Amino acid sequence: LRDSDGKLSLTTRIMIAMGAGLVLGVILNIAGIEAINTHLVGGFFGMVGRMFVNALQMLVVPLVFFSLICGVAGIGDIRILGRVGGKSFGLYMATTGTAIAVAILIALLVSPGDGFVMEGIDTSGVTGREAPSVWETFAAIVPRNPVAAFSGGEMLQIIFYTIVLGIAVLMLGERSKTFVEACEYMNELMMKVVQIVMAFAPYGVFCLIAKTFTEQGIGLFMPVIAYVLVLVGALLLHLFVTLMLFLKLFAGLNPITFLQKIRPAQIFAFSTASSNATIPVTLRCVTERMGVNNSVASFSVPFGATINMDGTAIMQGVATVFLANVYGIDLGLGGYLTVIAMAVLASIGTAGVPGVGLVMLTMVLGQVGLPIEGIALILGVDRLMDMIRTAVNITGDAVVSTIVAKTEGQMDLAIYADPNAGVITS
Ligand code: ASP
Repeated sequence: LRDSDGKLSLTTRIMIAMGAGLVLGVILNIAGIEAINTHLVGGFFGMVGRMFVNALQMLVVPLVFFSLICGVAGIGDIRILGRVGGKSFGLYMATTGTAIAVAILIALLVSPGDGFVMEGIDTSGVTGREAPSVWETFAAIVPRNPVAAFSGGEMLQIIFYTIVLGIAVLMLGERSKTFVEACEYMNELMMKVVQIVMAFAPYGVFCLIAKTFTEQGIGLFMPVIAYVLVLVGALLLHLFVTLMLFLKLFAGLNPITFLQKIRPAQIFAFSTASSNATIPVTLRCVTERMGVNNSVASFSVPFGATINMDGTAIMQGVATVFLANVYGIDLGLGGYLTVIAMAVLASIGTAGVPGVGLVMLTMVLGQVGLPIEGIALILGVDRLMDMIRTAVNITGDAVVSTIVAKTEGQMDLAIYADPNAGVITS
């Protein structure tokens, strides 16, 4: 908890801020004092929280670019690069597929939404989104204009472009030396910027959490409590059991150590509900705290933040079963298989930003013929569910990153075993 000077570690301070924000939020929600809730919470807390999330997002694109260039140059061999890419992709698909299949099974067993009475719920104003085809999703990975990709923060396009550039850097050999050194310097510089932003994390997290809990009263849960319980249960099961089994089986690493070391990233994911905004923290946890070599982490973490969404897939599964029960529609095996395939594919093409899960759900529901207005039922609780599922999403990214690094011999096990490695104090 404390470093050698007796200072509280940043993680501890952030956790205290989170607890304080939660308590304050719940109290303010119950007290319901209009002026405070609008001006202090909605206004001031909202502003500080937004500034903090903006600052995190501001780090993402340059950080990913420079660390990925260094990563590719560090690997030095295109074949290994291909293996790291292939393994990451395969594992991401496998974890997401398992996540949603297990979630659907649990939801079918518990059957939330049976006998649900749809009263007083306004279902107008919910509009659906057509699912892009698999081909479109893959075609969109190649950017037509790299500058537009960078300015729009299009993660998959940025990764694609940077890897191609990295390969070219390797091909130029000696001639690239100065460029690689410059990128290494820029990478270090960006890490320092991350440190500066992180110093403000306790305040940012406090404001974000207090705002969410002031706005989201406990009362919102009651009508859909069965949905919430099954969803949270399935998310926790995936986090603590399925993912840890993957880690143990494929990498032989200690899950307890892993869970301790990934905690800062989970807190950021929970507070911001965005895998993308959490990339700088996930990268730091995976490299400095777990000993994953930057050559693997710089690729697999941002890649995972975009294509790997275990928690979001779980939500798709539980929500479809819930809505099918509410509307008394039997989807049958074919329907559920469609849901699995859709959720896995949709997670590839969509970015890790808040609320994306709901957009994906409109596609999934449309595909299996469930009424899209059903989303109105779970809208009220979605922000909190988004926070939890984002924490699960980034844990999945870190697990896969660790497995790939360990099996490729790109991991420093001494760092993994050291409880004080990468403890952030400032
Ligand atoms: N907010 C999630 C993420 O960033 C996506 C979602 O489920 O809405 O990973």
